[in-house]
Amino acid sequence: MKVLKFGGTSVANAANIKQSGKIILKNAAAGKQLVVVSALGGITDQLIMIGQMASNGNEEYKTVLETIEKRHLDTARELLPVTNQSGCLSMIKQHCNELEDICEGVFRLQELSLRTKDRIISFGELLSSKIISAFLFSLDEHEAWIDSREVIKTNSSFGYAAVDFNTTNQLINEAVKQSDALIYIAPGFISSNAEGQTTTLGRGGSDYTAAIFAAALQADVLEIWTDVSGMMTADPRWVSNARPIAHISYQEAMELSHFGAKVIYPPTIQPVMNKKIPVWVKNTFAPDDYGTLIETGYANGNDMIRGISSINHITLLSLEGSGMVGIPGFSKRLFEALAHEHVNVILITQSSSEHSICVAINTADTDKAKDAVDRAFEGEISNGRVEPLVIETDLSIIALVGDKMKSHPGISGNMFSALGRNGINIRAIAQGSSERNISAVIATSDVKKGVNVLHEAFFEAVYKQLNVFIAGLGNVGSKLLDQIAQQQQYLLDNMKLQLRITGIANSRKMLFADEGLNLSNWKEQLDNGEKSNLNGFVSSIIKRNLRNSVFVDVTANADVASVYDQLLVKSISVVACNKIAASSLFDNYKKLKSLAGEYNASFLFETNVGAGLPVIGTLNDLIKSGDKINRIEAVLSGTLNFVFNNYNGSQPFTKVVKQAQDEGYTEPDPRLDLGGTDVMRKIMILAREAGNQIEMEDIANNGFLPASCFNGTVDDFYKEMENHEGHFKALYDAAAAKNCKLKFVATYNEGKAAVGLQHISPEHNLYHLYGKDNIVLFYTNRYPEQPLVVKGAGAGADVTASGVFADIIRVTA
Ligand code: ADP
Ligand code: ASP
Ligand code: MG
Repeated sequence: MKVLKFGGTSVANAANIKQSGKIILKNAAAGKQLVVVSALGGITDQLIMIGQMASNGNEEYKTVLETIEKRHLDTARELLPVTNQSGCLSMIKQHCNELEDICEGVFRLQELSLRTKDRIISFGELLSSKIISAFLFSLDEHEAWIDSREVIKTNSSFGYAAVDFNTTNQLINEAVKQSDALIYIAPGFISSNAEGQTTTLGRGGSDYTAAIFAAALQADVLEIWTDVSGMMTADPRWVSNARPIAHISYQEAMELSHFGAKVIYPPTIQPVMNKKIPVWVKNTFAPDDYGTLIETGYANGNDMIRGISSINHITLLSLEGSGMVGIPGFSKRLFEALAHEHVNVILITQSSSEHSICVAINTADTDKAKDAVDRAFEGEISNGRVEPLVIETDLSIIALVGDKMKSHPGISGNMFSALGRNGINIRAIAQGSSERNISAVIATSDVKKGVNVLHEAFFEAVYKQLNVFIAGLGNVGSKLLDQIAQQQQYLLDNMKLQLRITGIANSRKMLFADEGLNLSNWKEQLDNGEKSNLNGFVSSIIKRNLRNSVFVDVTANADVASVYDQLLVKSISVVACNKIAASSLFDNYKKLKSLAGEYNASFLFETNVGAGLPVIGTLNDLIKSGDKINRIEAVLSGTLNFVFNNYNGSQPFTKVVKQAQDEGYTEPDPRLDLGGTDVMRKIMILAREAGNQIEMEDIANNGFLPASCFNGTVDDFYKEMENHEGHFKALYDAAAAKNCKLKFVATYNEGKAAVGLQHISPEHNLYHLYGKDNIVLFYTNRYPEQPLVVKGAGAGADVTASGVFADIIRVTA
């Protein structure tokens, strides 16, 4: 004998019932089978609703009832040949009339007891099972309908009744013997007490009904037919990479379902486990998929962790006090108080000092629990030996489940560090004594992220996801997106890195794509995005709470630079092309660096100096490996190098500057380059990274731009430079007369920094520097005379974008 159970989706409509029918008929040749069915998907919820509406005096319940009746009539009409319809249709009408009478009673009394509620919701399974029975009959199958209420006997805990197995097992066997049918059909979920009143087994209880039948009949197998291809490594609605678990032990399955894997109702496993009956979870809509086989002992495979699940609506109760230390009986009194009020304790932790004890319960039980505990400890609370109960809500439990965890140290360490790296705070921890389960209590707002983080850490070690938010889509930002689009597949194939662009914004529009933006037409998508605003962009990033998030600032905007701290404290890394933060006041620079450390995030700004050249990275590597930076000599302005390499008086200075701007080398306001500020920022950043506390005013600037050039707009500036052509020509001539080139040089020497125009002679290291190139000479303990040199293009959108790109990838290191 086989027992099969078809869930709500599997019997939701005529087409799905036909699909389920095919599975039943395929078994028919192999012997007897008993088929348990749920109500048509969604019907139980609607029945609960009409009960509530009627008891609230809301007459609209009648309309809902009509739709329920119509849905069943339509399903029967579609399933059955006309000649077979009348009996079934009148059965449906009769049941719906009865239901209507009950609801009318509720409506008149405006009272809904748990007993009446069970009566109302029992119609869902009664109707579905009778329709399916009629359907199989119409196919000439030798079938018989069994009334589960007559064979499954329970106590009178309506809504969540406890089964009397002795009587039930006997009645089931008698009922089956009474008929020589090949297919028995039975409604799931419903049962009755000793007085014959209808009871139910708890939401999702049809799985349990099937297990009760299977155990009583000593079935060969229990098949749970549902709408997913087995128990999965995590809830597939949350984790897109969740995959079916082929084999799992009873204990693991029980633990996973207990901790929220809805695919199996938790009490289901016990009866079949006792009888060692295998349970096979299969997909009605993909019957050839293997599904999940739940069976005795350790299942195959090397997976340490079998699955991850979670439960919401958790409240944490903490009882603390010096009066608890060393005195036995405190926890006993706590649990007795809770048990007395039927409060189910889901998780317990006690500090080893015995100073506090913490239990997790369902949020719905909070008030009951608080009253009970405060009453039980009234005496101790009033004399101050115990603090009043502390209550925290909006929590969830996240659990890792696996039989093999037992013999492997380090799993909880991995779990907590993966959560910690992603800024998820853990409120309480428990490890079952079986070591089959490690659970942590976290904020509900973090639970989806937490499940994904753990799934990635334990099941997708091969792939790491990076969620990137980009602010600023000018020259560099656009190039960055081009480069990422071109490289995404390579990163996936070769670095196992799934780099997704999850949000972009410029000053006009912003756009989010939680599953990653399709980069082929991001411009059009952005044009259709919402109106941009910085605070909205930042708060949306934080609210999304995606794991491994990176904020990339490709603007030159001070407001954008001012949001980094908000992101870092949420463990969101910051990659800045924008120099403003790293060159702001030292305290701010330092604060951002320490926030990054404290919250396990990265704060990277390699492109602040030398665009894509590895300047800061090289400096950091030297220091990390124990070297000391004594002196730096550098040409750090691509703009100025371009300008002085191209200016020889044959065309006006202002024109050369304009050309540098047109080619995209300058800051939006070129005076930041020409006036030396940009170079000062860069040498200051290097000095800071070399370990110095230094501010802008500590840097000497021997500028060459006449003071009047700083007045007015950028256009005014170009005009003013024309007026000073003689000045620029004189600078050039003075250098040329000595066979020297003009270079705007930044120096750092034993803690002091300066910038200014210098005459560079041909034998100097800085002389052969062309185009818009940069050069940095590091003189260190290990490179005392011949400096370590970093040289190359130091400006331009392409190289800058590639430097930003490299920082983004560095975040995953
Ligand atoms: P049925 O109506 O067939 O009893 P349920 O809706 O009760 O089906 O359970 C199946 C659903 O459980 C799936 O559609 C899936 O969304 C959800 N689910 C949650 N966690 C898991 C998990 N770990 N594995 C598989 N499904 C899960
Ligand atoms: N129909 C019931 C419910 O929705 C039982 C079940 O489907 O398992 O809870
Ligand atoms: Mg279910």
